[in-house]
Amino acid sequence: MNLKPGVSGKPPYDDQNVFARILRGEIPCRTVFEDAFALAFHDINPQAPHHVLVIPKGRYVAFADFAANASEAEIAGFIRAVGHVARLLGFEDSGYRLLANMGPDSHQEVPHLHVHIFAGRPLGPMLAG
Ligand code: 5GP
Repeated sequence: MNLKPGVSGKPPYDDQNVFARILRGEIPCRTVFEDAFALAFHDINPQAPHHVLVIPKGRYVAFADFAANASEAEIAGFIRAVGHVARLLGFEDSGYRLLANMGPDSHQEVPHLHVHIFAGRPLGPMLAG
């Protein structure tokens, strides 16, 4: 999938990306939370004791596109879902990290907007190298 024209433009959306397929129920996931605007599920390859992905239900690849073009209800619903999941899973006392990869330099693998939630141990420095 080619993400051009880049993260600041509106990349084309690939309806066959793995998160689109999860949203359609074609691929199973371990759901943590779901409502009209967002789905949260455990990452298949966890990088921390707790590693959850939160995705909006709309067809967005990039944060800039989502921020510019999603409805206020979609934006509020997605942001609230991230906070709700952190609370639901009890991460607020010990802490957690939110991360969202966007485009080639970030190594975004799945071209559907998602926020990673990492928790369950001290998470080390902000960037690997
Ligand atoms: P990215 O690199 O795009 O920020 O992160 C994509 C994440 O999606 C990775 O952490 C990867 O392990 C996860 N992932 C990829 N395919 C699947 C899948 O089929 N199911 C689940 N639950 N996670 C997936």
